[in-house]
Amino acid sequence: MSTPIETPVSRRLASVKNIIIVLSGKGGVGKSSSSVQLALSLLSQSPSTRVGLLDLDITGPSLPRMVGLDIPDATVHQSSAGWVPVYVDAEKRLGVMSIGFLLKDRGDSVVWRGPKKDGMIRQFLSEVRWGELDYLVVDTPPGTSDEHISLLTHLHPLFAPTLLKPTTPTSILITTPQVTSINDTIKSLSFTRKLSLPVMGLVENMSGYVCPCCDEISDIYGGQNKVSELATKENLGYLGKVPIDTNLVKLLDSVSKGEIPAAAQNEDGNSNRGSDDT
Ligand code: ADP
Repeated sequence: MSTPIETPVSRRLASVKNIIIVLSGKGGVGKSSSSVQLALSLLSQSPSTRVGLLDLDITGPSLPRMVGLDIPDATVHQSSAGWVPVYVDAEKRLGVMSIGFLLKDRGDSVVWRGPKKDGMIRQFLSEVRWGELDYLVVDTPPGTSDEHISLLTHLHPLFAPTLLKPTTPTSILITTPQVTSINDTIKSLSFTRKLSLPVMGLVENMSGYVCPCCDEISDIYGGQNKVSELATKENLGYLGKVPIDTNLVKLLDSVSKGEIPAAAQNEDGNSNRGSDDT
């Protein structure tokens, strides 16, 4: 019998039951918003479900703002057991890690070459003290860049059948119905196949525009059924469609301004956001 492959990454992620990598061929198609919505819906599976959100968009981190943690006291603490993620809720069921929490000034740009990004990604995967997680949702930059290659290289031991506890990561692809987005999705699919990353399916975001006056949905991209057709052709799941909804924009804007949705408040109506360093 061959020896199980163990690395600092595989050891750290042994407490994570499922890893879902969120990909998109293009930027601006709603990948980060979908990662947040996915994390929130997984959280609603049961009161004991615990979810981690890892932002691998090193040069353009947007998760802290999207979960309402773009605030000065949301910082990552170093404990003897590793970096403590920043929690969205009092019960510590949704933890978030992003380079955004490590920047002195949140407006700072991160201008790093591949090797430095790779070092950060390795640290995110091997040093964050997530604890027992049901799901780790990994938000990635658009396209297939250094970050994706680093991620899959460091996760590689988790694909090995010899591991005692195999947590094979999987992925979902977010696309709009626009032809340019679909073409880039096909490139991302080719990337996943080259690197043997399983794909659960496609999510069609911005599938139409919901009129705020009459709720009628208009097909503004003219790509009706194109995403589901691609899913069928590639033998992938079609995981559903989300129209352009001004309510979602308002919700994300209100969260980023610090107005916290009820789900993230404790019984007294206060936010308990922030991290512990126990
Ligand atoms: P990406 O991560 O692909 O770059 P984002 O998730 O940052 O994209 O989304 C880009 C913008 O589009 C954000 O301002 C977000 O609020 C908005 N957005 C995403 N999906 C929707 C949607 N279904 N309806 C309305 N606005 C959306």
